[in-house]
Amino acid sequence: MTDRTVQPINPPRRILMGPGPSDTHHRVLQMLGAPTVGHLDPYFLTVMNEVQSMLRQVFQTTNEMTLAVSGTGSAGMETCVVNLIEPGDKMIVCVNGVFGGRMADVAERAGAQVIKLERPFGEVFSAEEIAAAVKQHSPKVLGIVHAETSTGALQPLEEISKIVHAAGGLLLVDCVTSLGGVPVKIDDWQVDAAYSGTQKCLSCPPGLAPVTFSARAVEAIEKRKTKVQSWYLDMSMVRNYWGQSRAYHHTAPINMNYGLHEALRLVLEEGLEARHARHHRNHLALKAGLKAMGIQYAVAEGHQLPMLNAVLIPAGADDAAVRSQLLNEFGIEIGGGLGPMKGKTWRIGLMGETSQPRNVLVFLAALEKCLVDQKIAVPAGAGVAAANACYRGA
Ligand SMILES: *Cc1c(COP(=O)(O)O)cnc(C)c1O
Repeated sequence: MTDRTVQPINPPRRILMGPGPSDTHHRVLQMLGAPTVGHLDPYFLTVMNEVQSMLRQVFQTTNEMTLAVSGTGSAGMETCVVNLIEPGDKMIVCVNGVFGGRMADVAERAGAQVIKLERPFGEVFSAEEIAAAVKQHSPKVLGIVHAETSTGALQPLEEISKIVHAAGGLLLVDCVTSLGGVPVKIDDWQVDAAYSGTQKCLSCPPGLAPVTFSARAVEAIEKRKTKVQSWYLDMSMVRNYWGQSRAYHHTAPINMNYGLHEALRLVLEEGLEARHARHHRNHLALKAGLKAMGIQYAVAEGHQLPMLNAVLIPAGADDAAVRSQLLNEFGIEIGGGLGPMKGKTWRIGLMGETSQPRNVLVFLAALEKCLVDQKIAVPAGAGVAAANACYRGA
């Protein structure tokens, strides 16, 4: 029996202000619907080359081994870990949130001898404590998350590579949420391997994971004594597919690469500095508005992510009820807390295309209604007024 009654889907139009995916630009959506060509068609090879070259610009690197892994951000994480780690290698993983925890799990599965350096959720690591751990353990790899989407904290990276390199190790950085929203300077900061995802500040639907490896990291991969445990994510083969020889490995998701191509074009058209400044401006306005409504950030001033605002749920507010009202009445998605932050925080994303004054103002007004409906005292219009004042520079 065949079912001929299933109707076409008709997804609702949302404002995606959660921890990702973010809103997608119409030019990217349009590109996803462009004609599919063969993955070894010379036309597609040009697309791949341009994706690589634009990724290098966005990562601010000249790394030859820079490409988009087929899979989401977690596939990028796994790619970096399984290629750099051989069974028994020591890896320090800095864990101050869910994604650091995930990296430690991936490293353990790859057979690493994992040393977890831990900090409470919402805090960041100091260069001193990283230096002490590196000195004590001399790891082959130190892994750290730049923008911890689960907590809303931004990890300073500038000093870390020197510490890791001085001990002969490699620095691996999770840039899933930071890329396209705050500066990510792979070469200046001497990061050896980094991965990202398409659906955060690059504002492309989920499905690809940009990665980049320094010459040092490539050397470590070439010196491996054992095969990479994952056939699919083995960079020694994937690089030949993306490189000059174009040797078939797997079929790249053609249309996703079209989408990423257009998303990267949008990033470069806007300019990295202008894009980062936009994220910062809208974050400040949102913060001013939330503050006027009596809502506090969960992360200390100075370490807050502009693209992911983790705030404490005000006393008396019903977490799930507010989030579902935002979604059902206003079409706005925000995120709840993850791990130990569950039920304690809301995660308000202003990633990529979503980071617009329009969304900040609509969200503040909508949140006021949700809170008032729950009989929580909020000064009328204070959030929107404070955000507007912030935009005016008052
Ligand atoms: C979203 C995210 C990931 C995982 O990416 P997926 O696309 O969900 O697989 C990893 N690290 C960070 C910091 C993230 O925000």
